Parts: sequence; structure tokens; C-alpha cells
Amino acid sequence: MKIHSGKSVNPMIAIGKVFVLESKDAAAKKIKTESSEKELERFESAKLKAISQLEVLYEKTMRSVGEEEAEIFEIHAMMLEDDDYNDEITQIIEKEKVNAEYAVATACEKFRDMLIATGDSYMQSREADIKDISDRLINCLSGKNLSDIELPENSVICAEDLTPTQTMELDKNKICGFVTAYGSENSHAAILARTMNVPSLIGVGEEFLSEIENGTDVIVDGISGRLILSPDEDEILKARQLIEEKEKETLRLRELIGKEDITKNGQKVSVFANIGTPQDLPKVLENDASGIGLFRSEFLYLGKDSFPTEEEQFLAYKKVFETMNGKKVIVRTLDIGADKKADYFNLDTEENPALGMRAIRLCLTRPEIFVTQLRAIYRASVYGNAAIMFPMITSLFEIKNALQYCGEAKRQLKAEGTSYNENVECGIMIETPAAAIISDILAPEVDFFSIGTNDLTQYTLACDRQNPKLGEFSVSNHEAVLRLIETTVKNAHSHKKWVGICGELAGDLNIVERFVKMGVDELSVSPSRVLKLRQKIRQIQ
Ligand code: PEP
Ligand code: MG
Repeated sequence: MKIHSGKSVNPMIAIGKVFVLESKDAAAKKIKTESSEKELERFESAKLKAISQLEVLYEKTMRSVGEEEAEIFEIHAMMLEDDDYNDEITQIIEKEKVNAEYAVATACEKFRDMLIATGDSYMQSREADIKDISDRLINCLSGKNLSDIELPENSVICAEDLTPTQTMELDKNKICGFVTAYGSENSHAAILARTMNVPSLIGVGEEFLSEIENGTDVIVDGISGRLILSPDEDEILKARQLIEEKEKETLRLRELIGKEDITKNGQKVSVFANIGTPQDLPKVLENDASGIGLFRSEFLYLGKDSFPTEEEQFLAYKKVFETMNGKKVIVRTLDIGADKKADYFNLDTEENPALGMRAIRLCLTRPEIFVTQLRAIYRASVYGNAAIMFPMITSLFEIKNALQYCGEAKRQLKAEGTSYNENVECGIMIETPAAAIISDILAPEVDFFSIGTNDLTQYTLACDRQNPKLGEFSVSNHEAVLRLIETTVKNAHSHKKWVGICGELAGDLNIVERFVKMGVDELSVSPSRVLKLRQKIRQIQ
């Protein structure tokens, strides 16, 4: 038995078996090989596979978005055939007698450095493409398509870190816990663990990865923050008791189902749930959320090879609206960028992606993507109580432009004779200090605000939310963040607009009372936190 400690992001406990998820870098580890010939063959067949993937992507994008957007995949296929790139990989395999994955990764680095050194902006922009085609090749070589992985029941996913895309691709029905060497509390992987209501430990350190293999028995104890490898009988017994206690607590909380979200003195504070995909709906219903305060729609785009079509999105939104049966559902428009990336967007590599081309900035720059999403939401809006919300707003012009695209989507639908709800509420996320500070100027333009404390904390305290080392500095309940929240609530109310909180801080039971006293109208949390929050609200005088 060996015990490691980490930071818990969900106070649950599970007994399961290790499943190690290797990072791409690990797949490109240098391995000496006797047979260069075999590695050259592997490289050639991976190349053919990558080219045929790109052909499929080209066709799909042509049909769903257009020729201009599809072109990049044709360029990528041509780059894979480039003589210099191929010669470099071949030479590394032959001269260094190494595996093909390592040769591709090494050639990739060399070409990227060369392109950056040219100083020519066009050449530099091709650097991300080299990385993209090389990653594709490495994936083809290592046969790592996460959605193809057959996870055993009760898998505890162990990894250095998890990207939102990885978490999207895994079969969630088989997962009972997450453990990562790095990671941070407000990362999307942590948020996913809370949504799934499984224990998750972050920042455990790299050492444990060298002590485990697939199938190792393990206890993930999110109550004490311990990872117990090959536990003895005593630890297993204790874990079983804790699991039983948790189950009893869940049963007690279930008595709150159907009860109102109201304080003892009659103040109503709606408790809503956050979701990423329609697959999260059963948990929302099970926990009786009064609505959906944040549908992170970008998860419909992650873990895919190409853009979801308007029809695919329409079906997803329709399903959520119908299932919620008249309760409010706030769809946040695409918040891609920063840690949420999908290769087919072909985003440039940025020095500071959290400060870069993300969320509403990307949507306003690539309106064809934005309008497709808006059309899908409006088409689905006749099936329920839909609201739309724009992420990462900092200025008035962004709201005005975004609303113009809403108008454009509606005009198109009207012209086609397609029905939609004319009165869908449109709101914004307040997740930058700029938006909070000028919330009095923004309020007249929108129907509501929803405060995203995860990003608001990151941008107010200058703390990268992905950086696990910043724990003690990155405090969401910092007075500066709370004051920005208070300003936002006041400004919303003085313009007779309602205001919610949908960041992780909304579920912090130690601070809920302060939010209620500020007058916050709605709190939106992971489904598993809904009933605890309702209980807390009902205890407030
Ligand atoms: C936030 O920033 O608080 C938020 C709710 O959005 P996300 O966590 O998806 O960035
Ligand atoms: Mg955010």
C-alpha cells in the first residue's frame, strides 16, 4: 500500500482500478529500435491514415461550412507530402535508429523553429500547421483515439493533466474518479469531475505515475485528499463505510426535491445547474435543478474532427430545452480558445491564450461559425424556455455586434419560414474586470448578467486558472472579486435586470449568504451541488 496526497476538487470517495492516460508527449518518447525499416513502414502507413482523415475532414467542412474553411485540410494533406518534412523524418529514423513517433516530434520542432526564425508573418503562421499535422501523425502512429479506448468498469483515470477535449472523448459511464499529477481547481477537468460527481484529486505530483499500471487497485478519497494505491483491507473497509455515509447524505438531501429555493424570510434565489452536453441532463433532473444557468455549448465542438453542423447543434439544444420542460435554459455561445481547443478550428499558437482570440472575440471574427450556432439555438427555442449568453465580454461594441448577429440569424430564419421564439432573452457573462466595472453601461443593452467567477478571479488577480502552483494566490473569494460581484449586482438591479453567478464560487457554501444578502437572483452550480445549495439557502434568515 502507498499513499499520496493531493487537492480534492469534489468531496466524494471511490474504490476502483487505475487507467493510465498517456499524454501526447509520452507517446513521442524516444525509443531505440533495431529495425529502421519497420519504423519507416509504420511512418508511411500512419501518413496514409492521416491523409485519409484529412480528406474526410475536407469533405465534411465543405458541406457544413464552406470551401474556404475546408481548404486548410487540403493544405495539411499537401504538407504531409512535403519532401523536406518527409526527408527529415526518414533521416532521423535511419540515422538515430529511433521510433517513428519520436522522429516526427523532433522534425516538427525543427521545422517550427525554422518557420519562426524567418521573421515572415505568413511563414510564422504555418508553424501551428506543422504542429497540427505532426500531432495527427503521432496519434495515427500510437493508435490513440481516446473515443476508441475500451475503459474497464470503475476506471480511475490517472494522468499528468487532462484537457477538456480528452475528458470529452472518454466513456464517462465507466469512470469513477480522476487523479492528476498537475491540474488546478477551476480547470475544466475539475469542473467535469464535479458535474459527474466523482472524486477527483489534482496536484498529486508526478511520482505516483511511475508506481501504477493499468488495473492497479486504488482508492480516491476526495474527503481527506488521499490517493491510496493497492489499499489494504482496513482502508477498503473504511472507504466502504464512507461511501455508505455519502449515500445516506444523498438520500437525506433528496427530501429537498420539489421544494422552493427560498430563504427563511422569503427571498427567492433560484438554484440552477451547469452542464456541458445533453448527457449531463439525467443528473440535472435527478437533483431537481430549477433551470440550467450555464450550458457550456463549446463542449459540443470538442472531441470532434470537424465543426458540428447546424442540424447536430439544433438537435442537442432541442433535447435540452424539451427535457427541461419549460424551465429556463441559458445557452452560452461558443467559448472556445485558451484551454478549450479543437484542432479543426486551426487556432494560431498564442503566447497568452487566455488573453487571446477566444470566446466572443473568435465568434465576432468568424461570424459564419457564430451565425450557424445562433440559428441552431433560435430554431430550437420553440421547444422550451431558451436564453442566450455571450462569454468574455469586455466592451459595449461586442454586445452590439453579437446582438446584430442574433438579428441576422433571426432574419434568415424568418425569410426561410422557419419558426423561432422572437423573445429569447440575451445576456452576457461578467467574467472580466472590465465588464464588472462598466456593468452600469452594459446593463441597458442586455436582459441579464451571469457572473463567471472562474475567469473573473483569473483576470482580477492575474492568476492563470490552469496553473496548479498558484493555489494560495488564486482565491476566488478575494475581496477584490467580491467587490466586483457586488458592483455588478447593484448595476444590474438599478437597470431592473436580473443577475446570477455561474462560476464555481456559486457553490461555495461559506459565501452563499453574502451573495444572497447582495441580492443575487440565481446561482448555478454542478448538478451534484444543487440540493446542498438549496438546503443552505433555506437555512438563511
Ligand atoms: C467562469 O469563467 O466562471 C465560467 C463559468 O465559465 P468557464 O468556467 O467555462 O470559463
Ligand atoms: Mg469563463
